[in-house]
Amino acid sequence: MRKQIAAANWKMNLTLDKAEALLDGILSENINPTENGQVVVAVPFPYLIMVNEKVAKRKGYAVAAQNCGNKKSGAYTGEVSVEMLSSIGVEYCIVGHSERREYYGEIDEILQQKLVLCLDENITPIFCCGEALDVREKGKQNDFVKTQMEKALFDFSASELKKIVIAYEPIWAIGTGKTATSEQAQQMHAFIRSVLAGKWGEDVAQDVTILYGGSVKASNAEELFHSPDVDGGLVGGASLNAAEFIQIIKALK
Ligand code: 13P
Repeated sequence: MRKQIAAANWKMNLTLDKAEALLDGILSENINPTENGQVVVAVPFPYLIMVNEKVAKRKGYAVAAQNCGNKKSGAYTGEVSVEMLSSIGVEYCIVGHSERREYYGEIDEILQQKLVLCLDENITPIFCCGEALDVREKGKQNDFVKTQMEKALFDFSASELKKIVIAYEPIWAIGTGKTATSEQAQQMHAFIRSVLAGKWGEDVAQDVTILYGGSVKASNAEELFHSPDVDGGLVGGASLNAAEFIQIIKALK
């Protein structure tokens, strides 16, 4: 069975004391995810070391960066390299979140560079894709997501692709309280898996973890996660509340 992941994305929230309190709250209930389960906490750069120190002791828990530089190293003021992340024990990195694409001009070429660097350093990229509302209203969401996948992923070999986690995050559902229905999520996840199967074969497609993101809450997590092709979630707002995120972890298959 492929890995099932509950991933928190704290985005640009919390000061250090509040970040520490939230993490302690999440870890206070001793839930060990199932054998295939994994909890990932994606936090702002300054908190990576603190979070890693705490989660490294817990089986099934890992820390993620929310972003990384697209160059290996050198004169790129303000950037954080994948090698640096690896050197402090980061295991996952979100790549291509819609907020990075939209507000920071991260085009497909940049995302592809980041994915290559992550794989080189054995960091698991969580590659985000997903359409805006106008695309869905025109019924073009499948074409749109397929193009995002082609541009960022199609140069990878099957063995590389298997190391990537995909997160489907429809932009119209992010931070809006408007969750995709479990049917909509399942439909798109099955489509993403069919695109993977078409390019790399069914065995590879069956191995790839595909997360859903967009207004996941304690109240809808179980229904979403129990769809056959939904392998967990990437959770923004609801991950800022320890009790709520714990319920979301418990909803993993
Ligand atoms: P929300 O859960 O706040 O909608 O955010 C989703 C998201 O963007 C996770 O990366």
